Amino acid sequence: MICITRSHRTASNFKDRIIHCCSSSLAYVPKCEPVKSEDIELLRRFVDESRKICVVTGAGISTESGIPDYRSEGVGLFATSDRRPVSYKDFCGSDKVRRRYWARNYAAWPRFSLFQPNFTHMWLKTMEDVGKVSCVVTQNVDNLHVKAGSKNVIELHGTGYRVMCLNCNEKLDRFDFQEILNRLNPTMATSCDKIRPDGDVDLSQEQIDDFKIPPCSNCGGILKPDIVFFGDNVPREVVERVKSEVEDADSLLVLGTSLTTFSGYRIVLQATEAVKPIAILNIGETRGDEHAHIKVHGRCGEILSMLGKK
Ligand SMILES: [Zn+2]
Repeated sequence: MICITRSHRTASNFKDRIIHCCSSSLAYVPKCEPVKSEDIELLRRFVDESRKICVVTGAGISTESGIPDYRSEGVGLFATSDRRPVSYKDFCGSDKVRRRYWARNYAAWPRFSLFQPNFTHMWLKTMEDVGKVSCVVTQNVDNLHVKAGSKNVIELHGTGYRVMCLNCNEKLDRFDFQEILNRLNPTMATSCDKIRPDGDVDLSQEQIDDFKIPPCSNCGGILKPDIVFFGDNVPREVVERVKSEVEDADSLLVLGTSLTTFSGYRIVLQATEAVKPIAILNIGETRGDEHAHIKVHGRCGEILSMLGKK
């Protein structure tokens, strides 16, 4: 299989670079049993026999780039802290919540924006290049599929790399927004120890109270990251685009997500209804397991790299 060999070579080179720049990148990957070779065989056949694979990815693939997820047992943020992500309602309704959110996001940005794609992202990019993967639907807001070079990417929950106005929908590049925040908060340090999946860190109350956020330059409205917060809905046009990609695909591959949020689970339900083969790769159980034809337990990067070896 030429495509697998090629993807493996490309990603290996890439992996060397990633390990070099992020030596503790597996700190947020939960422990797991070794991958079974019979599972790899089944998965290899699944990839061989698919012509257009629609892929769904979640936080479990970004943990291998050093970004923690929320739900992983033992190492995810729900297990290691009592902090919870901000909800859409709280963000929109409270100036205090927004100040806290943006102050932390500002402090985390220099590091968050440096995270790099890993083997899984590169494998998907190569699979798109050779025409196997038709679309990547990601629940991640870390931009790593785009950084890897994948072209047809649908960001189901938005992106932390863009800022939007809640009033007039004006969009702003997150790097440009950082420059504005820099000018407004010249004494605020941007360093952090612990980062969250959406680019959030811990700061002192004083740092938060003093933090200044600009209004939208177009209308004076409230600025929010272009992320679908908890309690918010995925935009209708995004849902429709995903629906049509799943319809056009002949199989569904789910990588590194427990499918806890309905927006991801709904994709599995659609593929099930259309009787398309479904493969799920994840450490631990997922909400979609009963619909999967193939379920491989393990780290996505490890599983996919094994596909290239016979
Ligand atoms: Zn505006």
